[in-house]
Amino acid sequence: DLAQIGVSGLAVMGRNLARNLARNGFSVALHNRTSARTKSLVAEHGDEGTFVPTETLEEFVAALERPRRVVVMVKAGAPTDAVIDELVPLLDEGDIVIDCGNAHFADTRRREAALRERGLHFVGAGVSGGEEGALLGPSIMPGGSAESYRTLGPMFEKIAAQVDGTPCCVHVGPDGAGHFVKMVHNGIEYADMQLIAEAYDLLRDGLGATPAELARIFAEWNSGDLESFLIEITAEVLGHTDAASGSAFVDVVLDQAEQKGTGRWTVQTALDLGVPVTGIAEATFARALSAHPEQREAARAALPGPSAAVPVEDRDAFVDDVRKALYASKVVAYAQGYDQMAAASAEYGWDIDLGAMATIWRGGCIIRARFLDRIKDAYATERPASLLVAPYFRDAVAEGQEAWRRVVAHAARAGIPTPGFSSALAYYDALRAERLPAALIQGMRDYFGAHTYKRVDREGAFHTLWGGDRSEVDG
Ligand code: NDP
Repeated sequence: DLAQIGVSGLAVMGRNLARNLARNGFSVALHNRTSARTKSLVAEHGDEGTFVPTETLEEFVAALERPRRVVVMVKAGAPTDAVIDELVPLLDEGDIVIDCGNAHFADTRRREAALRERGLHFVGAGVSGGEEGALLGPSIMPGGSAESYRTLGPMFEKIAAQVDGTPCCVHVGPDGAGHFVKMVHNGIEYADMQLIAEAYDLLRDGLGATPAELARIFAEWNSGDLESFLIEITAEVLGHTDAASGSAFVDVVLDQAEQKGTGRWTVQTALDLGVPVTGIAEATFARALSAHPEQREAARAALPGPSAAVPVEDRDAFVDDVRKALYASKVVAYAQGYDQMAAASAEYGWDIDLGAMATIWRGGCIIRARFLDRIKDAYATERPASLLVAPYFRDAVAEGQEAWRRVVAHAARAGIPTPGFSSALAYYDALRAERLPAALIQGMRDYFGAHTYKRVDREGAFHTLWGGDRSEVDG
C-alpha cells in the first residue's frame, strides 16, 4: 500500500510530526539523509501506526500515493533548498511539497514560485509548539495554494492542537503567508517573554521578593486575564531549585539570552514594511544587550545609578500595578504584531484573516493564552484600526493605564531597565496624541534638505526659503 504522506527529515521535529500523523491514522513514508534516524524511529515507535521506512529519496517518492504529499522537516536555509532540489525531479504534476521548517517567508515565496513553474504545489507551513507540540498537537500555519490546502488541510487539522473543538490550523494565504505569520508569532513570543522578564525584575529588584514568592505571584496571575503558557512556565522556572547549589535555579543561570533569529527577522521585515513593532524590537535588542558581557562590565563599573533607593509603600498595590502594566504592554505588542501581519497581507495580496490567526494560536503554540479569544472577538466583525482601540482592549488598557504609568515611573526612578514596558507606554501615548512632534521633524527636514512639508490648513507641498528671506514657496 502506498503511504498517504511522507516526512523527510527525522530529527526531533520531523520525527514527532511523523509519529503524530501515524497516531492519527495516516500512513507515513519516512526518509532521512542518514538512515539511522529512520531506523530508530521505526524501532522505537513502529507500533504507533503505519510507517513505511525508506532509504533513498527515490524509494521515498515511490512509496507515496498521488498527488504526493511530502513534508520536508530539515534545517532551514541551504539544507532545505538541497532537499527540495533533489526532490523536484522525482515528482509529478500536482504533487505537494510542504516545508514545515522555520523558513524565512521570502525564501518560501521564491520556492513556491519555482515549484509552481514546474506544476508543483509548494506549501510553506509554520509549525509552533516545539518538540512536544509536534507530537501531541502543534499550531500549524500553512501557506500555499488553496488547491493544495484542500487535500492537505484535513490531515493537518486532524494532527493540530484542538481548542473547544476547533483545530489550531487554518489556510493562512498564498505563498509565504504561513511562514510570515509564524515569524510574527515568534516575534510576539520574544516580546511576551521580555515583558514577563521585566515584571519579574521589577518585583525582584523593586520589592525584594524571593523567587519562591514570585513563583506564587505568577501562578496566581495565571488564573486571571494573563493566563497563558508563558506565565505558567514562568511560575515553574521561578519555583525550581538548582540541585547542585541549592539556590533558586534562576540565580544560577547566566544572564545572557540567546536567539535563533526569528525575532530579528520580524524586526527587519517590519522596518521594510514601515510598521512600528517596538515591543518585538526592544525584546530582540534586550537579548542582544544581555549578550555583551564585557560592555556590561565596563558600564557597571563606570555608570552611576539613582542616588537613593526608591521604596515601595504598598507591596500588594505594586504587585497589582505590575500585573496591569504587563497586560497593557502585552496588548501593545500584539497590536503591533497584528499591524505587521495586516501590512504584509496588503503588500503581498495574502488576504489574511487576522481573527483566525488568534484562533489557531490558542493551542499548541508557545504564545497560547486566554487573551487570544479576546483578539479573535476583536476581529469578529470589522477590522479595528488597532487592536488597542477594539472595545475590550481599549477598556482593559484604560483601566490599567495609571498603574502602567506608575510602574514605568518607578522603574525609571529606581534604575530598573524596562525597555518593553516603557516603549509600549510611549507607543500608546504617541498613538493617542493630538499632535506629534513629527511637525518639527518635517520643519528640520525642509531646512537642511528642502524636503518640503504639508500644511494643516491647505493642500499641497511647501518649502520655506530658509537661507533667503524665509518666504514660503510651492514645493
Ligand atoms: P534540525 O534543524 O536540527 O535539522 C536536522 C535535520 O536536518 C536532520 O534530519 C538532518 O539530517 C537534516 N539535514 C541537515 N542538513 C541537511 C542536508 N544538507 N540535506 C538533507 N538533510 C539535512 O532539526 P529540528 O527537528 O530541530 O528542526 C527541523 C526544522 O523545524 C528546522 O527548520 C527548525 O527551524 C524547525 N522548527 C524547530 C522547532 C524546534 O523546537 N526544534 C520548532 C519549530 C520549527 P541528518 O540526520 O542526516 O543530519
